[in-house]
Amino acid sequence: MDTLLTVSDLVVQAERPGREPLRILDGVGFEVAAGQTLGVVGESGSGKTMTATAVLGVLPRGLSVTSGAIEFAGTELVGLPEPRRRALRGKDIAMVFQDPLSALNPVQPIGRQVSEVARRREGLSRAAAGRLAVELLDRVGVPDPAQRANAYPHQLSGGLRQRAVIAMALAGRPRLILADEPTTALDVSVQARILGLLAKIQAEDGVSVLLISHDLRVMAHATQHVAVMYAGRVVERGATRDLLDAPRHPYTAALVRSVPAVRTRTAPVAPIPGNPPNLAALPPGCRFHPRCPLAVDRCRTEAPALREVAPGRLSACHFAEEVS
Ligand code: SF4
Repeated sequence: MDTLLTVSDLVVQAERPGREPLRILDGVGFEVAAGQTLGVVGESGSGKTMTATAVLGVLPRGLSVTSGAIEFAGTELVGLPEPRRRALRGKDIAMVFQDPLSALNPVQPIGRQVSEVARRREGLSRAAAGRLAVELLDRVGVPDPAQRANAYPHQLSGGLRQRAVIAMALAGRPRLILADEPTTALDVSVQARILGLLAKIQAEDGVSVLLISHDLRVMAHATQHVAVMYAGRVVERGATRDLLDAPRHPYTAALVRSVPAVRTRTAPVAPIPGNPPNLAALPPGCRFHPRCPLAVDRCRTEAPALREVAPGRLSACHFAEEVS
């Protein structure tokens, strides 16, 4: 299967006046295959959203990519001049964020916002772009789309606003949709429908999705492959079902145990002990060792490399073969 996005050894640092820069991402790597969904999961502060902003080229001020590569459809994005980067955003790479209100203009009807994206991408007339906007709103499940196209964002429910954002994304005919916690702010019943919509779009259009979430249930329902992040690094990667059923990293195993019903085997639910480390004061050796039930002396001094532990499965644990 062709690879659309390859992130390799990505390092993002934050400048700190008078002090060493802080490594926010430390050697992050993964691939997104064409027409597939890769999930990136981890606790808050693991670096998953920073990874998404690095791919988009919209890192907050003071943060920069200091090494590594981000190759999208054969083009290296690190170091690409900003006008070319901007040209990709909203077109080849579309974004769907947690809060649809932040992506929508509050003083413009949603149909107009969708049609503006279509006009920029396709060079359509205003009337043709308006018709396409209604079609797209219909496709993403906005009821009565011709009427609702005239609605302002505040007149819609959270779920309909997120559908409007997805219609805007589709209007750019993207090859990659980058969705960062797209359902976190929505009711549980709406969450499943939005994830179902993203899966339908992926299947029908062959679009790739990079889905960022803290929620393993989202990974279980909506991804084919998963990268698990912890303290700025990827600690495990693999096919979703295999990874959830038989984790090969103690952190993934703890995440799985903390959420009911994501693995086919039943097991008691248990919270993950402790908290993620402060990136400014990381523990030596394996970053997970203060919380790891399998930690031994070696783990406190020697950082484990991400290595292939089974075909298609990578783990950054010295004892990956012993995790259950
Ligand atoms: Fe746990 Fe050691 Fe593996 Fe780190 S390397 S996850 S501390 S067993």
